[in-house]
Amino acid sequence: MLISLIAPAYNEEGNIVPFARSVASAFKDLPGGGTCELVFVDDGSSDHTLSVMRSVFDDSYIKESSLIVKVVEFSRNFGKEAAIYAGLEHSSGDICVLIDTDMQQPPAIARQMVDILLDDKQRCFDCVAAYQEQRKRGQLRNWCSSMFYRVLGASSGMDVLADASDFRAFRANVRDALLGMTEYFRFSKGLFSWIGFKTKAFPYTPDDRLTGETTWSFWKLAKYAINGLMSFSTFPLRIATWLGAVASTLAIIYMVIVVSQRLLFGVDVPGYATIVSLVLLLGGLQLLVLGVMGEYLSRVYTQGKKRPIYIKRSCSSNREG
Ligand code: UDP
Ligand code: MG
Repeated sequence: MLISLIAPAYNEEGNIVPFARSVASAFKDLPGGGTCELVFVDDGSSDHTLSVMRSVFDDSYIKESSLIVKVVEFSRNFGKEAAIYAGLEHSSGDICVLIDTDMQQPPAIARQMVDILLDDKQRCFDCVAAYQEQRKRGQLRNWCSSMFYRVLGASSGMDVLADASDFRAFRANVRDALLGMTEYFRFSKGLFSWIGFKTKAFPYTPDDRLTGETTWSFWKLAKYAINGLMSFSTFPLRIATWLGAVASTLAIIYMVIVVSQRLLFGVDVPGYATIVSLVLLLGGLQLLVLGVMGEYLSRVYTQGKKRPIYIKRSCSSNREG
């Protein structure tokens, strides 16, 4: 039995060693003589993350444990989603765990999630998804997040676990399904919902980041959300149809009113302001709809080039040679 932990890292030099030690301690006594491999993916960090990862090979605590450590180095920063994909490709465990390296997602909790999958009574579950019981974020961000999941669920017809993160443990069949999804614009939560499999929700409270700062600003999150929505729903494309239908109906009603006022009652309809505002409104709507179509087209264009999801510069392990 092999357990693979996939840990993407971008500028996490201060967190790597405590994280690796914490993994070694949480997974030291696996039932049936099982072993654990830790697959680090250095997502083009600009600090010393890569050398610190390699120093873990010679760390006395890690050497004493039976932990296998792999380091995959990217040629540049490709983003967390690409790093997860690379980690999955380089893992060979019967059970895989996606976990951040900043210690917000404690390895001890990951062990509890793996234990659920190892439990014979829970064989029906293929995936355990950790979700945050208490959100530590502001109210506006919570509201935006819950609205996003509602819209995504309703427009894609998928069952999306609202507060679930990508902190998950799953069996090899789920990994193979994820690797079969080779799209360039990746959105983990959507991918997990789309592939299905019986998932158990596991409540947890994230810790604070050990060192460093999150790279996710509000706008980066908003961009990620729009990307997620476009990857799993064609609803924004249909907005054009609805807007067109409503605008045409209103225009016909208004035309009937204006013509009858002129013909039946001889009212001279002064229309300069109305015409200007209608032209501007309709012009604006048309540009908006064109923009939405352009967004989808640009995704088709990028995906059509069939570029790789990530480019690897090197790969090493403490079990080499
Ligand atoms: N991360 C990554 N590539 C990036 C940005 C982040 O691999 O371009 C990693 C990061 O090192 C961390 C995880 O993804 O292990 C989550 O990132 P972060 O802590 O910034 O996000 P948050 O916890 O705030 O959602
Ligand atoms: Mg974090």
